[in-house]
Amino acid sequence: MAVFATLFGRLAQRLTPGNIGETLHTHVGQVPNPVSERSHHLKPRIHDAKMVKSVCPYCAVGCGQRVYVKDGKVIDIEGDYDSPISGGCLCPKGGASYQLDINSRRWTTVKYRAPYSTEWEDKPLDWAMDRVAQLVYETREATFHETDDKGNPINNTVAIGSLGGATLDNEENYLITKLFHSLGMVCIENQARI
Ligand code: SF4
Repeated sequence: MAVFATLFGRLAQRLTPGNIGETLHTHVGQVPNPVSERSHHLKPRIHDAKMVKSVCPYCAVGCGQRVYVKDGKVIDIEGDYDSPISGGCLCPKGGASYQLDINSRRWTTVKYRAPYSTEWEDKPLDWAMDRVAQLVYETREATFHETDDKGNPINNTVAIGSLGGATLDNEENYLITKLFHSLGMVCIENQARI
């Protein structure tokens, strides 16, 4: 008992408000923490990275993220503990956001399957943008209704729709919905919601 009393007495002496942080860092209970010289000088891989605050792109919860960038590349994505929404937490999907950005299996080209074809082709982005714009224009011209059967103004087309996408950010969604509504589209859907 005397030994324990001595040990607890020493521990109590060490754990003063002024040194509690250092004591907990350098000790495992009463035993000095045997941190090697190498470990003493280790630093986290994000220590010299630039931190950019962002929002998880996946769902409407909108958890805060900290994106760490070094040499122009994303090297880590973690929960933002300043976020009033999530307090630093990310669900497993949001916690794996890094793999969304940095993934050798991620498609980086436009995939196009021509009518009646069974094969996907890689196409330049400019080609795809021109084709989408042309088809939207032609479809809207052919299907736009200014009034319904009773003459009420409706100014819409139900022949063009939009579905997507949870990985779009707030600004992109704002611009998308502004463009689509101005075209008269009413079939606009996004899977990101609570
Ligand atoms: S997917 Fe998960 S981490 Fe991302 S916003 Fe939704 S709940 Fe938060």
